[in-house]
Amino acid sequence: MPNKGNRVKITKVKSHVIVDPDYDVRATSSAQDDLLVEVFTDEGIVGIGESDVNPWIARSCIESPGTHTMDRGLTAVLVGLDPLDPPKVWQEVYRSTAMAGRRGALVHALGAIDMALWDICGKAAGVPVWKLLGGQPASHLSAYCSLEPEVGDLDSYIGSMVRWARRAIDLGFDAVKAEATFSGPYANMGLRLPDSAMTEVLEAVRAAVGPGVTLMVDMQYAFDSAERALAMIEEWVAYDLRFVETPLWIDDLDGYAKLTAASPIPVAAGEWQATVFEFRELVRAGCLHVLQPDVGRVGGLSEALKVCDLAAASGRVVIPHAWKTGITVAATAHLAAARPEVERFEFLHPETCESRLRKELTIDEIAVTPEGVTLPQAPGLGVELNWDALEEFEQAACALYAG
Ligand SMILES: [Mg+2]
Repeated sequence: MPNKGNRVKITKVKSHVIVDPDYDVRATSSAQDDLLVEVFTDEGIVGIGESDVNPWIARSCIESPGTHTMDRGLTAVLVGLDPLDPPKVWQEVYRSTAMAGRRGALVHALGAIDMALWDICGKAAGVPVWKLLGGQPASHLSAYCSLEPEVGDLDSYIGSMVRWARRAIDLGFDAVKAEATFSGPYANMGLRLPDSAMTEVLEAVRAAVGPGVTLMVDMQYAFDSAERALAMIEEWVAYDLRFVETPLWIDDLDGYAKLTAASPIPVAAGEWQATVFEFRELVRAGCLHVLQPDVGRVGGLSEALKVCDLAAASGRVVIPHAWKTGITVAATAHLAAARPEVERFEFLHPETCESRLRKELTIDEIAVTPEGVTLPQAPGLGVELNWDALEEFEQAACALYAG
């Protein structure tokens, strides 16, 4: 969003650390806490954003002071800058925090800020963000629903996947992503089984949804080698999977390159990457068919747009990760509306997840229908906060920290 007159200034950043009062420390669910930011301007416009990162750490990245020109906290750099040129602000902040961040939590926190700046731009111009990003979308967007398993034993795991898949289709989804993770860091709540159990899950879900539904699988870093992953993936061709997500640990670039060259099913990853530079490393090493930036973690919409450019230049597609509240859902929908490289996006539906943050924090405008996800039309991100819920979730975070 060009701003010729440089009249608007950022005056304050407020960080909210919030927690789902029903959180479970054993879960690997990043939807149960959140860093929410409000960015204030001297014009009275307030933008909101969030990011998928430990919110206490991210808040420190935002609020910390510094003593020299390249170790500053985000707020110290942001105050006084023009919010109506988010990519320019991004570069200024990235440079001024280089010795404090460049990757990881600080870039994730910057993603929340960038999201809020685009919200301000849209509100200032009176248009939805996707219009500012140059979008010419169809009337509806394509999404998919992630299915969360129950993890008592393999039978209940498969039963829950099938039930959730049917529920997602009833809600209007034409694509679902199953989990089938019985090894590695995500092996849910200690349910560890041979790799053949993964095949049983996929067979059951494909049988339940029929051939007309797009099906994907999230391996959640389960395999410790490309060879082990490939042996299983070759068994799954019959299930017509759109992609296999994060089969290997994300730092195993050699493994991903091998797997990408050999896999009969497209390979997807990228949910943890911060900045387009980390995606470039993967692409240059010959990794991945599908890039999965998370809008907040990658550094905001400004950086997610660069991942779309990278996908276009390297013959890949973008299917963003999004596992947070209605703010991330909206920001990701704007990206999908703006860029043809986004084939579809993860839509965490309030009725298919347990997170009270997802269910209650925002008053959502967009919805899943049989035609697809409705296009955001309100100015900015088009998301209103439920202030009562925000207060309760902030209190839950305070209680946790005090305890
Ligand atoms: Mg995943």
